[in-house]
Amino acid sequence: MKIESLDLPDEVKRFYLDSGILELYPPQAEAVEKGLLEGRNLLAAIPTASGKTLLAELAMLKSILAGGKALYIVPLRALASEKFKRFREFSELGIRVGISTGDYDLRDEGLGVNDIIVATSEKTDSLLRNETIWMQEISVVVADEVHLIDSPDRGPTLEVTLAKLRKMNPSCQILALSATVGNADELAAWLEAELVVSEWRPTELLEGVFFNGTFYCEDREKSIEQSTKDEAVNLVLDTLKKDGQCLVFESSRKNCMAFAKKATSTVKKTLSTENRKILAEIADEILEISDTDTSTNLAACVRSGTAFHHAGLTTPLREIVEDGFRAGKIKLISSTPTLAAGLNLPARRVIIRSYRRYSSEDGMQPIPVLEYKQMAGRAGRPRLDPYGEAVLVAKSYNEFVFLFENYIKAEAEDIWSKLGTENALRTHVLSTISNGFARTYDELIDFLEATFFAFQYSNFGLSTVVNECLNFLRQEGMLEKTDALIPTSFGRLVSRLYIDPLSAARIAKGLKEAKSLSELTLLHLVCSTPDMRLLYMRNHDYQDINDYVMAHASEFVKVPSSFDATEYEWFLGEVKTSLLLLDWVHEKSENEICLKFGTGEGDIHAIADIAEWIMHVTAQLAGLLDLKGAKEATELEKRIHYGAAPELMDLLDIRGIGRVRARRLYEAGFSSSAELAGADLEKVAALLGPKIADRIFRQIEGRDAVPQIVESEHPEKSSSS
Ligand code: ADP
Repeated sequence: MKIESLDLPDEVKRFYLDSGILELYPPQAEAVEKGLLEGRNLLAAIPTASGKTLLAELAMLKSILAGGKALYIVPLRALASEKFKRFREFSELGIRVGISTGDYDLRDEGLGVNDIIVATSEKTDSLLRNETIWMQEISVVVADEVHLIDSPDRGPTLEVTLAKLRKMNPSCQILALSATVGNADELAAWLEAELVVSEWRPTELLEGVFFNGTFYCEDREKSIEQSTKDEAVNLVLDTLKKDGQCLVFESSRKNCMAFAKKATSTVKKTLSTENRKILAEIADEILEISDTDTSTNLAACVRSGTAFHHAGLTTPLREIVEDGFRAGKIKLISSTPTLAAGLNLPARRVIIRSYRRYSSEDGMQPIPVLEYKQMAGRAGRPRLDPYGEAVLVAKSYNEFVFLFENYIKAEAEDIWSKLGTENALRTHVLSTISNGFARTYDELIDFLEATFFAFQYSNFGLSTVVNECLNFLRQEGMLEKTDALIPTSFGRLVSRLYIDPLSAARIAKGLKEAKSLSELTLLHLVCSTPDMRLLYMRNHDYQDINDYVMAHASEFVKVPSSFDATEYEWFLGEVKTSLLLLDWVHEKSENEICLKFGTGEGDIHAIADIAEWIMHVTAQLAGLLDLKGAKEATELEKRIHYGAAPELMDLLDIRGIGRVRARRLYEAGFSSSAELAGADLEKVAALLGPKIADRIFRQIEGRDAVPQIVESEHPEKSSSS
């Protein structure tokens, strides 16, 4: 099907023709035949890189140019930025694009001027909770990676959000994009959508298992030269010799870093002098951003053409690695599966070194087929590679047979709604009531019947869980104690703040019961909520953390009895996380924190990001409920944002000054922007360098009396100064 023949405005057709897209891929053509451009709901379950985004673009552009507005929902912030960058190319068609991934209690009414809004599902949910007006104008909703409905963490929000959007705008077109899943037909039926299922790919994908020096696919085999003792390194070398790049998936961060390091000597030998020079520049860039042990290791790998990629790295570091790989300079990325789930980063050969993953309940377990497919699907760069290869590595014949049967020949699993537990449902029950989607019990059940959970389980068990949620919300004072469903002001605030009602109840109780509020008391209160992400306990942590608890027992609202081993262990994990935050707000260096807590820089920022938000919630709740702690929590919120002590706060309001620079200024006798304003430029330049000093002076001289806090898109805050 030719682009020329589509029922689209001429300027849209011209846009694609100019970018070299002349004809639709077969699954895209099928989608058009099934009503994509006529406003029909559609579920496209097709492999990565087969043009799902283009489907979304065509539907969005058609609708927008007829006066509509599009919402593009993604699961990850990194994906939101990727899509945002792509859609900004439509500015030549007069289309405005906005992105929303930030603070959860803002309405972001200003975003409404845009024609396309890219948002995470959590942010979309929070915009709905805050009754953002422009949400009613949406004419197309794209739900990217919709198979994540199966995820216990993010699935419930995604399905409730879709149900709400459909209820609010019944005529709105829903376009759901999914990886191949077993029950795509069921998902499509729930969405009242046409279904396009296809295995078609623009680049041929060879899937197989490597065993004893040979790569076996279903219809062919290739022997791989045994140049080193490590088979995966041999597979890498084989790809590089044919001018390709490799993605290697490992089960843990430790293994993924170890493999990147292991492959360095082999990969380095294949590099041209020119490439080595560029890699050295990329490595220097890494070291400029961060000087932790992890970054030093990463830079050393990059100099040799390899890199590792996992959630312990900060966003800027991950972006440097991704860009270096896309540019063809970094030849190998060894990654945890985080990369497979989100980014568009294909490679000639994907090597899956470990098909098992650790789970706290069941130990090491084989990954689901769906996850394998996501990784394998990264093989083959469209238009750049002649083919892609996805290789599982077997160590024994039995394993070889197992991998062939259970992955290469297997179908992806069905996906299942995870909404049916009190923990998942509680927050959505409150927000549904709070937003007026349900005023009575029957209306609530009616609304929940529109979810995938009710569709899949025919309502089985729903009313029991709903009753548990309602009882909890009434008992905690978030709903009036009447039969009608009426939110209290507490309940409404909890819904708008986008916090789990259980977290809010714990915070309120903690503030009431605390005898005094030290930094540790508040940080631990934040860490004791289910919204917090906790650090794992390592074996040698127990003694240290336990000793700390003994010495500081009076600062915790309550120390559980150590006779209840599970509860006590959980508590120690909360304390460990609080201690990380305590070090962070006392300006301990990232490297020191990483080494002390056995974590990555990216984790520090991710934890601080969540803690900042829950501390914000704490301040708000203390204010509304007239409890102690509002002032202290507000101050700590800002300190967590910057990772700094109180005396630096005024300096940190200046753009371009992070905690390191602020400390340097403070030690030199400057404690505020006012003091800086009267300072000698040269003295400041000697402290911060001439460029930054100049930028700061221009800012101070030209700015208003009230300094602005500049929110960064990345959670990295100002630490890189
Ligand atoms: P997906 O979202 O399924 O991973 P994308 O939509 O990102 O895939 O498409 C992958 C690449 O293929 C993009 O570079 C896109 O421009 C290109 N592409 C998509 N559809 C076509 C087409 N019909 N003809 C040529 N290139 C296409």
